[in-house]
Formats: sequence, structure tokens, C-alpha cells
Amino acid sequence: MARNWLKGAQSAYDTVVIGSGLAGMTAANVLARLGHKVLLAEHHYNLGGLATWFKRKGGHILDISLHGFPIGMMKTLRKYWTMDMADRVIQLRNIRFDNPQFCLRTTFDRADFTHILLERFGIMLDVVDEFFSTIRQFNFYDELKMTTRELFEKFFPGRKDVWRFLMEPITYANGSTLDDPALTYGIVFSNFMSKGVFTYQGGTDQLIRAMKAELESNGVDIRTHCLVEKIYVDDDGVRGVRINGDDIACNAALSNSNLLTTIHKLVGDEHFDDGFLKEARRVRLNNSSCQVYIGIKKGEKVDYDADLLFSSVADEYDTDKILSKDVTSRTFSFYHPFIRPGTNRYSVVSSTNARYEDWASLGTKDYGRDKDHLIQTTLDALSHYVPNVRKIVDYVEASTPKTFKRYTLHPSGTSFGTKFEGLKISRELPQQVAGLFHTGSVGIIMSGWLGAANYGVIVANEVDKFLRSVNSQSPVEAVTV
Ligand SMILES: Cc1cc2nc3c(=O)[nH]c(=O)nc-3n(C[C@H](O)[C@H](O)[C@H](O)COP(=O)(O)OP(=O)(O)OC[C@H]3O[C@@H](n4cnc5c(N)ncnc54)[C@H](O)[C@@H]3O)c2cc1C
Repeated sequence: MARNWLKGAQSAYDTVVIGSGLAGMTAANVLARLGHKVLLAEHHYNLGGLATWFKRKGGHILDISLHGFPIGMMKTLRKYWTMDMADRVIQLRNIRFDNPQFCLRTTFDRADFTHILLERFGIMLDVVDEFFSTIRQFNFYDELKMTTRELFEKFFPGRKDVWRFLMEPITYANGSTLDDPALTYGIVFSNFMSKGVFTYQGGTDQLIRAMKAELESNGVDIRTHCLVEKIYVDDDGVRGVRINGDDIACNAALSNSNLLTTIHKLVGDEHFDDGFLKEARRVRLNNSSCQVYIGIKKGEKVDYDADLLFSSVADEYDTDKILSKDVTSRTFSFYHPFIRPGTNRYSVVSSTNARYEDWASLGTKDYGRDKDHLIQTTLDALSHYVPNVRKIVDYVEASTPKTFKRYTLHPSGTSFGTKFEGLKISRELPQQVAGLFHTGSVGIIMSGWLGAANYGVIVANEVDKFLRSVNSQSPVEAVTV
């Protein structure tokens, strides 16, 4: 008989959080701390969503999305998780660019970028200062129509080398392009510029283990292998959810599943206004990713002095080339032993932005061939910086947009949720259906570890307000099922 992953669960909760990405987990933790009864349902066997890792024979631990985040993550971990987690946030100081237009090293903060823009690119100080203060003032409630291309044209007309320096890392970080609203670029870039790029010492496995322990200590009922198939809605709003074929009652459902899946599949179009649906249908998904995971043999080391390397052979910054299956641009993350102190192990992860459709239609044989091609060309590119890489590698594997789709259930394996227009739709869900909320990567700004976790907090506070208003009228009755 199949195992019952809901064994011992209650028949009703104040809220069910659907999905355990960083947004879902952070929201669940905030809600539990505020005294609500929370069920966290995750379809996968691990918590974390894209904040994940995997282990392989030979002592390899490979991180998927721990390449770098802004300093703000430290405050988020301190306020909404634990001091110990916040204390593990450490800076990555050695960030390199290597492309036909320039080759340089930076700490990726405002002071160093200012210096490089002046000395290397010959930009006047007053222009640089005005650029930084303009983007610093952007905030996510602004109605700013300007695109990033227009922003760059305004400050650095015709300087494609400067555009690349300012934009390429952000394209890797959240899939945004020159044609997205400048707001999305400005907020994310400014977050990094405030202090630089940070990582989590101990690795993603340590973080998610610690988060799980914290959720449990705050009373969250965590259920893995639990697929939420339906959110039940009647005229009064959310009534419950169906998980693995069983019904659980709740007054609020907080979905960390993809925004479009939440609307069209989990709830169903019949519960939304025509106008809202029309707008929701215009929401574009963001792109996906490919990665190559390179595990270095025990006892060997990577002799390349960088934490992050933005490497490209494309002549200039070009979104189409960045997304192309003929890869020209890669972000290499070098995991040195200080990431997991005591292990004395190295690994390298290469990430590239990718289009789902380039991989989805391939038959098994072609898919295997193209994956192998991705691995071999990535090792070739890496050997430019680590000449002996093929000798010191003893594990190598690749993931594609199909892999991301399978593990997270995101349509088209989207790595960074939706484009900007998704944010409004996500925010308006509770006005359409009482008790229906969404959190997680959306609108470019609310993506990445920091954006997702912070959006979890924002929405958890709205769920709290909603629950306080309904619980006084119709508290949920819970019995063990
Ligand atoms: C290759 C790659 C590299 C990245 N690198 C970085 C980086 O260096 N720094 C950074 O800050 N960000 C990075 N990111 C982005 C970052 O990882 C994500 O933005 C963030 O982790 C997303 O969190 P989330 O809460 O939106 O949800 P997700 O992580 O997408 O999680 C959603 C969860 O919901 C679950 N779920 C979905 N539907 C259901 C259902 N019906 N029932 C039950 N469970 C369900 C999924 O299984 C999943 O666990 C990277 C992403 C990728 C793909």
C-alpha cells in the first residue's frame, strides 16, 4: 500500500501553504509565529524548492541556486528566522568578468563599481553618482514606465560596454532584459550595490535543515510528498484544499506554486472576473536555466582565484545570445572549502539562462546528446580558467529547463517566476477570491532568495490580517484525520 504522507494531519488549519520555496517557508514561519495553525504542503521529498542541493557518491554536495544574494538576506534571516542563520551570511569578495569587451575583478559594490566606471570606462563622476542615486530611489510601488534600455541610454548613451558591465550579472540573477521596466533592474542592482554579493556558509543543505527545525519548533505541520491538487472555493472564498486525494479545510490558502498554475489549475478560471482573467492571460513567464555541476575529486583543488565568474565569448551583451542553446555566456560559481568549513572540498557550478522550448521537444536520444554537448562545452570553457579541470573532476551532470519543471512544477521550468506584470496579478488575488493568496518569484523584483523570502513576509502579514478578521466569525474546527 502507498504510504499516507498526511497520516496524523488535522482535518482543518487556519491556512495551508502550498509549496516550500523560500517564500512559502518564510511565510509559514511568520504565520506560525503569529499564532496561526499552518500546514505546509510540498510535493517534493525535500523542502526548499529552487533553494536546493543534491549529494552524490564520492562526497559531492552540489548547490543549485546558492551563487550569491544581497546583504538584505542577513536582515531577513535575523528577523524572520534565527540569529544563527543570519550569522552564516558571508561576503564573496572576488567577482570576475571575462568577455571580449573587458576583463576585470570587482567586489561588486557601489564604491568599486564607481571606481571602475571612472577609471576603466572613463565615465564622469557626476554621471555615475546621478545614476546610482536615481536607481536607489526606485521602489516597487512606483509606476515607472521607463525601460532599462532607456535608463542606460539616458546615462550612458551608446556605451554598450558599460551596459554589459551593469546589466549582464542582473540578467543572470533574475532573467531581466533591457526591455523590462527599469524599476526591476534598479531595485535588484541597488540591493547588490549596497554592500556586494553574499552567500550562506554551511551550504543550502544546512540552511534548509535549520529552517525545517525552526518551522517545526514554531508548530508548522510540514508534509513532504504532498501535492496540492485543488484549492476549493465557494461564494464566500477559500474553503479548503485537496492534497494527495484528501480534503483539508482552511480559511486561507497561500500558494507558493507558480502564479499561473495557482489561477488556472489550482483554483480554476470560473472563480475569477473576466477582466482579471484577461490580464492574467497576458502574464509572461520568465526564462529558465541550464546548469552543469562539476564535482572535484577528494584531495584535489581548483586553482582559480574567484568566487563568481561572469564569462562570455559574445561580442556584446545580447539577451538572445544569453538565452541561446548555443551557449556563449556562463556564470561559474566556484565553491571553495570555506563554503562548507571542515569538508575541504571544491565544486564548480555553471549556470546559463535558457528557453524551455529549446529542450522540451527533444526526443530521449537528442536530449541526452544535447545534454552531453552542454557538459563537454562547459568543461572546455572552464578549462580556459582551470586548465587541469578534466583531470580533477570525478562527477559531472547537467540540468535543463525540463529538470527545473519536474522538480518545482513551474510551467516551462521558469527559474524566476513571471515578468513584471505578474506582480499586480499576484497582489490582486485576494480581491478576486477571499482567502486566496500567492507568494514566491514573481514580477522579477520578488525573485531570488531575498526577493522571494521578503515577499513571503509581505504576504504572510496580509494573510494574518485576513485570518484575524474571519477567525472571529468562523474559526476552523480541527480533528485528526
Ligand atoms: C539555476 C538557478 C540559479 C539561481 N541562483 C540564484 C542565486 O544565486 N541567488 C538568488 O538569490 N537566487 C537564485 N535563483 C533564484 C532563486 O532560487 C529563486 O528565486 C527562489 O529560490 C524561488 O523561491 P520561491 O519561494 O519563489 O519558490 P520555488 O523555489 O520555486 O518553490 C516553489 C515550491 O512549491 C512547490 N510546489 C509547486 N506546486 C506545488 C503543489 N501543487 N503542491 C505542493 N507543492 C508545490 C515546488 O515543489 C517548490 O518546492 C536561482 C534560480 C535558478 C533556477
